[in-house]
Amino acid sequence: MAQNEDVFKKIVSHAKEYGFVFPSSDIYDGLGAVYDYGQNGVELKNNIKRYWWEAMTLLHENIVGIDSAIFMHPMIWKASGHVDAFNDPLIDNRDSKKRYRADVLIEDQLAKIDEKIDKEVAKAAKRFGESFDEAMFRQTNPRVLEYQGKRDALHARFEAALNANDLAELKQIILDEGIVDPISGTRNWTDVRQFNLMFKTQMGSSSDSTMDVYLRPETAQGIFVNFLNVQKTGRMRLPFGIAQIGKAFRNEIVARQFIFRMREFEQMEMQFFVRPGEELKWFDVWKKTRLAWHKALGLGDEKYRFHDHEKLAHYANAATDIEFQMPFGFKEVEGIHSRTNFDLSQHEKFSGKKIQYFDPELNESYTPYVIETSIGVDRMFLSVMCSSYEEQKLEGGDTRVVLHLPKALAPVKCAVLPLVKKDGLPEKAREIMNVLKFDFACRYDEKDSVGKRYRRMDAIGTPYCITVDGQTLDDNTVTLRDRDTMEQERVPIAELPARIGEACSLNNLLKKLG
Ligand code: ATP
Repeated sequence: MAQNEDVFKKIVSHAKEYGFVFPSSDIYDGLGAVYDYGQNGVELKNNIKRYWWEAMTLLHENIVGIDSAIFMHPMIWKASGHVDAFNDPLIDNRDSKKRYRADVLIEDQLAKIDEKIDKEVAKAAKRFGESFDEAMFRQTNPRVLEYQGKRDALHARFEAALNANDLAELKQIILDEGIVDPISGTRNWTDVRQFNLMFKTQMGSSSDSTMDVYLRPETAQGIFVNFLNVQKTGRMRLPFGIAQIGKAFRNEIVARQFIFRMREFEQMEMQFFVRPGEELKWFDVWKKTRLAWHKALGLGDEKYRFHDHEKLAHYANAATDIEFQMPFGFKEVEGIHSRTNFDLSQHEKFSGKKIQYFDPELNESYTPYVIETSIGVDRMFLSVMCSSYEEQKLEGGDTRVVLHLPKALAPVKCAVLPLVKKDGLPEKAREIMNVLKFDFACRYDEKDSVGKRYRRMDAIGTPYCITVDGQTLDDNTVTLRDRDTMEQERVPIAELPARIGEACSLNNLLKKLG
């Protein structure tokens, strides 16, 4: 774990050093849990968004997009339940004066027990070698059974407290488990309180006409309140979906782990409207579809798992998370929720407008049910960065830092490098740039030795380096260097667009999804 934390620190500083992510307001020492994307970060982020958007809107005839405003009528957040229930249980440690989420402290405690069990299993696996039967060991080893019993009991107690919204019980669990503040090391906890995560501001110029409005904590409500607009103007028939990418804001209590938990972040959400009674079938379809989208990137199939929710939100009848193995453990990247007809019904009630769909096949009107897929752009960005980062030892004792980004997502697809800054090579290199720049994000670089330039490109994940040398002037060939294998190949200039295009194309990635 310590080693992973170390790697994570390196990734964070790499992201800053190479223009991916900067702390917001950096020259003023930053602003808590707010970040800016730099020259490479914005390209990677845009490519992630494009991959999602096109997978939704191009590959599904029955999904269309919208872009709704961040400000919305405040009644929307009353209807959605956010004003009354979008809370996290917080607890303070009186000694360190630090604030924590009570539920997260308990979840961490559960994870610690899991770790102990895994350690026992790993030890036994080593001892028994090939003949080790893991399932049998987990079912019979007394120590594992003892840990598992403790875990199950804690889990049941935690789940019951969450479902009953019992804040006193959450505190009691923290005390009974002997959970200490990681900073002060003490158990000097305050009571658990609810804290609403929405940011509030005012709209209007004169004091009597101002109105409290919220910065949206999710993009989903912008879709629900436009359901009728899109359905009618697009003449959409059920089942159909509406997709949206946009900023969301949450006043997170504990904002740690870099861009994993931010106060201003971006979501990619799709609400899929279906016939009542068919929602669980579609829930399964979207679980599979979304996991396939993630896996097609090739970050490693073993890095994903589903995690079904302990506590269903007030609107849901099924919910799961797609978790990704970050350096700090498996963490939620995407949520898939069966939201029933809760949102549309609530908006019907609060707005007084009829929000129903006339089903021509059934010849009846009803409130559609909804399956939501909701993924954070920034968490996706973080999972891509973490799984791509490698410090590689090279022959001869040299090392390099390389980002093995999925090629279709890389901010720069190729760099054009004249071997030396004379003899007509820069001019030839510019000529090549002028052809390639219409198809790919290319960088021109003539400073420093070519070895150093390769390293700079490896560090930002550029899949290809094209080196122009004396031979290029004679026979119009260049060397094409592959980021991952570092192999170099002599290639005619005329073949470059096809070679790079094939490897880096977003279309080819989308084709994997069928
Ligand atoms: P968590 O339990 O981690 O707070 P959540 O369950 O509240 O997340 P959802 O409301 O389901 O998250 O939001 C959908 C997605 O939006 C999440 O899967 C995540 O990728 C992203 N997201 C939510 N909150 C944040 C945040 N503070 N910073 C960055 N991304 C976020």
